[in-house]
Amino acid sequence: MNIILLGPPGAGKGTQAARLELHRGMVQLSTGDMLRQAVAQGTPVGLQAKAVMEAGELVSDAIVSALIGERLDPLGDKGAIFDGYPRTRAQAEALDLLLSERGRKLDYVIELEVDEEALVERITGRFSCGKCGAPYHDQFKLPKVDETCDVCGAHEFKRRPDDNQKTVRTRLAEYRAKTAPILPYYQERDLVRPIDGMAPVDAVALAIDAILDGAA
Ligand code: ADP
Ligand code: ADP
Ligand code: ZN
Repeated sequence: MNIILLGPPGAGKGTQAARLELHRGMVQLSTGDMLRQAVAQGTPVGLQAKAVMEAGELVSDAIVSALIGERLDPLGDKGAIFDGYPRTRAQAEALDLLLSERGRKLDYVIELEVDEEALVERITGRFSCGKCGAPYHDQFKLPKVDETCDVCGAHEFKRRPDDNQKTVRTRLAEYRAKTAPILPYYQERDLVRPIDGMAPVDAVALAIDAILDGAA
């Protein structure tokens, strides 16, 4: 099974992808994570992407599609969860080609429907484990034990430099202008399954499970 989690920044894509990895043995392919890694390592891609990401704009289609292509090859028979990709029509078309070249097909595009004002709150309160990357939130998901990661027990956490008020607005505008318009591309093929992304994390997870199990 190969699925896309589609939704604006802060919709809960990473949170749900982490859960699907844990429970279904699928593999999360997050272009945001790949780009942040490239920036941290100072690779040529990272050097090109850094300022664009800090501004909240989109990195070039060619760069992100190449990153996805590299990660698809070693997947074997594991399913892919595309998180934060595709974000433009050109990326959607590139993904179709990448998948068909590997004899894979897209099963669902799960659209997380959310309210924009809530997203600003979600993004500005977001932090994650410095060791394993597990996602947390200042209000909605604090670690069970103070300053200790639920998943790996680490005590260090990090925040993204682009998770600030100003950049968030640009990222939401980019989503509206370039990413939301790819929905019809998938609606034509009856792949889109909208769900309520404003529900609590566990309820969103149940809705996704129902779709993947063919019950919705
Ligand atoms: P995305 O990957 O779509 O940008 P994340 O999964 O990182 O979004 O979620 C953004 C922030 O909102 C995180 O801090 C996360 O803990 C929190 N969050 C995710 N899903 C929900 C939810 N259903 N309700 C409340 N907060 C959530
Ligand atoms: P979020 O889901 O919170 O918006 P991501 O981690 O997916 O954040 O992306 C962070 C930044 O990385 C984006 O604002 C953009 O600059 C860049 N980026 C990630 N994925 C893509 C993509 N598919 N196409 C273009 N730029 C991307
Ligand atoms: Zn951790």
